[in-house]
Amino acid sequence: MSTPTKTSSIKTVNPFNNEVVKEFEAMSADQVSAIIDKADEAFKTWKNTSFEARAKVMHQVAKIMRERKEELGKLATLEMGKLIAESIYEVELSADIFDYYADKAAELLADHPLEVQHGEAFLSYEPIGVILSVQPWNFPYYQITRSAAAHVMAGNTMVLKHASNVPQCAQIMEDIFKEAGLPDGVYTNLFVAGKDIEPLVANTKIKGVTLTGSKPAGASIAAAAGAQVKKSTLELGGSDPFIVLEDVDLQQAVEVAVAGRMWNAGQVCVSPKRVLVPASKYEAFLSKTKDAFAQLKVGNPLDADTNVAPLSSEKAAVDVVAQVQKAAEQGAHVILGGKRVDRAGAFVEPTLITDITPDMDAYYEEIFGPVFQLYRYNTIDEAIEIANATEFGLGGTVFGKDTQKAVEVARKIDTGMVYINHVTGIAPELPFGGTKESGYGREQSPAGIYEFVNAKLIRTTTPDANY
Ligand code: NAP
Repeated sequence: MSTPTKTSSIKTVNPFNNEVVKEFEAMSADQVSAIIDKADEAFKTWKNTSFEARAKVMHQVAKIMRERKEELGKLATLEMGKLIAESIYEVELSADIFDYYADKAAELLADHPLEVQHGEAFLSYEPIGVILSVQPWNFPYYQITRSAAAHVMAGNTMVLKHASNVPQCAQIMEDIFKEAGLPDGVYTNLFVAGKDIEPLVANTKIKGVTLTGSKPAGASIAAAAGAQVKKSTLELGGSDPFIVLEDVDLQQAVEVAVAGRMWNAGQVCVSPKRVLVPASKYEAFLSKTKDAFAQLKVGNPLDADTNVAPLSSEKAAVDVVAQVQKAAEQGAHVILGGKRVDRAGAFVEPTLITDITPDMDAYYEEIFGPVFQLYRYNTIDEAIEIANATEFGLGGTVFGKDTQKAVEVARKIDTGMVYINHVTGIAPELPFGGTKESGYGREQSPAGIYEFVNAKLIRTTTPDANY
């Protein structure tokens, strides 16, 4: 499986220096088919395994992850470049999600009684079979976890297609599941390139598909699933607004917005990509943002004092710089940064852009890198209009001292999540997901576990009943 090939796109390339570390051969169609057969076979036993037994395995996965967090963290940093502290935090977060579903699944999926006039009716939540999970590289463990923890705890089995640039993170999670005692076939990693995934959806043994990633990948998978009348969930991109209200503590808002935007070198679906500031506060906010940028240190993601990591790949860095250049050509002002950092690796300068207008692409699209877009607004209605101007609808932030006022604004933002006085966050017990072109379905929280179960109605009644 780890034989180097010249053609494989599945490989570890360290974004810190762009050196190829390890290559993996893509699996053949026959190998993939055999894995799906095995997952289908495993489902027959796993669906009847008690919640208690399933939970034991999931708690063990969490325990192993915590015990090996340094090693797992280093591997994520090696493969996609994120800061080591962020990698370790991600491992701990993933362990918490495994524990959450291990603790909650039995309660959440217990029979749900319905009120009826006679006899009895209840919903029986039943797993549906093999789920294909397609995941991106930006949170190599967390992305796997939020679907696997919920759907495997619910009694489904899973085949994972991870991003081609994080193959070792993908494989190590399969290994951890095995070490934790998960039966063979319940969760298996596939080494397949993204372009070869769509045909797998038609395999009759795949019963559902969940994808986190870009709109084109999501649209293609969802279309393939729709053609086979299979359930899909999509967690796609975002261009989250961060609305600063008049009564704000400016320094605090700047610090939260800048740190949020530089998190994972800006490669977070819920990063505060567009920061909206009232005209009366604009110049002061801009000045403080420049000060905050001066504190940023781009560098080795393994160094504790680095706070801006390289991007995940050379291509990602090239694409982000091209987007910034296009914005500049269309009339936006690049106040700081905008270029590659003069060193080896997939680095892009922390970038500050202003004066973005509706006739520019940057007004609507997602920039997946350390690019802070600052907007000025005159009225709160104008702020809401700018916030809702993109086709994305993932997360968002409203920042201000009057929480009630902030909540009123939050209600008018067309996204799946809005945080007050915090960038869009992540917690096992809170739902994560979007609306509009950011996708559909929810992960984490109670909601996440119902996505791939059949909520079957069982009704006890009598032959002479009216219905
Ligand atoms: P991407 O290209 O769509 O890749 C994501 C996954 O889809 C990878 O495993 C990729 O495999 C696979 N893939 C690519 N093309 C495919 C196709 N035609 N059919 C099926 N699978 C395909 O996404 P990305 O650009 O690397 O990731 C960043 C995007 O993900 C951003 O837009 C970000 O906002 C979004 N994201 C969303 C969330 C959320 O929860 N809403 C979370 C994180 C990221 P290969 O690597 O082999 O190409």
